[in-house]
Amino acid sequence: MVLVPTMGFFHEGHLSLMREGRRCGDHLVVSLFVNPTQFGPGEDLDAYPRDMDRDLLLAEGEGVDVVFAPQASQIYGQGYQTYVELTELPGHLCGLSRPGHFRGVATVVTKLFNIVMPDVAIFGEKDFQQLAIIRRLVLDLNFPIRIVGHPTVRDSDGLALSSRNAYLTPQQRVSALSLSKALLDAQEKVSRAVRDAKRLIGEAAGFIRSHPETEVDYIAICTPEDLEDVAVIERPALMALTVRVGKTRLIDNRILVP
Ligand code: AMP
Repeated sequence: MVLVPTMGFFHEGHLSLMREGRRCGDHLVVSLFVNPTQFGPGEDLDAYPRDMDRDLLLAEGEGVDVVFAPQASQIYGQGYQTYVELTELPGHLCGLSRPGHFRGVATVVTKLFNIVMPDVAIFGEKDFQQLAIIRRLVLDLNFPIRIVGHPTVRDSDGLALSSRNAYLTPQQRVSALSLSKALLDAQEKVSRAVRDAKRLIGEAAGFIRSHPETEVDYIAICTPEDLEDVAVIERPALMALTVRVGKTRLIDNRILVP
C-alpha cells in the first residue's frame, strides 16, 4: 500500500505524486488533512485554500483507491498530548522561522503512518527539509516504510507549484518567479566555477529584492543530508530559500551541482 500525504487543494504537483504512487504499489491512499499543529499563531490555517469536491474528483481521475480526510478532532482528540520532535534537523531553514512547524509535521506523519500502515510513502522535494525529516523519522522510529522523494513540479515559466500560489495577484506572481530564477542563476554561476556560498546568497537576495513586494526570509546553501551551512561548494549542495511575496510565504530549492 502506498500513501501520499497532502493538505489538499490539489495541483499538478500533488497529481504527479499520485501517479508516482500508482507505480510504487497496488493500493493508493491519499490523505487530505490541513494539519492544525503545523501552523503557528498568525499563520494561514483558517485561510488555507480548500476544495474537497474538486480534490475528490481529481483523485478519482488519478485512480486513487482511498482518500483519507479526517476531521481535526479525530486526529487530535480531547486530552491529546503526544508529539514527535526531532532534535537537529528542524534547527535549520524553515524550522528557524516556523518554530513548532516540524513538530506538527512529524507528529501528523507518524499518526498517518500508524493509521494507514503503508509500505511506501511519497513526499515532494519541494519541501526538502520536510522530506529529510521524514527520512530521519522513519529510520529513528523503525517504521518499515520506504520513503520516495519526488522532484518539484513547476509551471512552464519555472514557478514551483504550490496551493499557496492561489493567494498571489498577477503582479505578485511575476515577483514570485524571482525565486526559481535566482536558483537557476546560482546554478549557472556554480557551473562557471563560482564556489563562494556567501556571494551566491548575496546575489540571489539582491535579485529577489529587486522585485516588488518581496521580503526574503532566508536563503541558505547547505548539505542536503543534515542541512548544515556550506561555505564553499565542492560537492552538490542544497540552495533553499523562503520569500514572502506580499503576505504569501513561498519556498523553493535546488541542488547546486559543481
Ligand atoms: P501539501 O499539500 O502542500 O502539504 O503537499 C503535499 C505533498 O505534495 C508534499 O509531499 C509536498 O512536498 C508535495 N508537493 C507540493 N508541491 C509540490 C510540487 N510543486 N512538486 C512536487 N511535490 C509537491
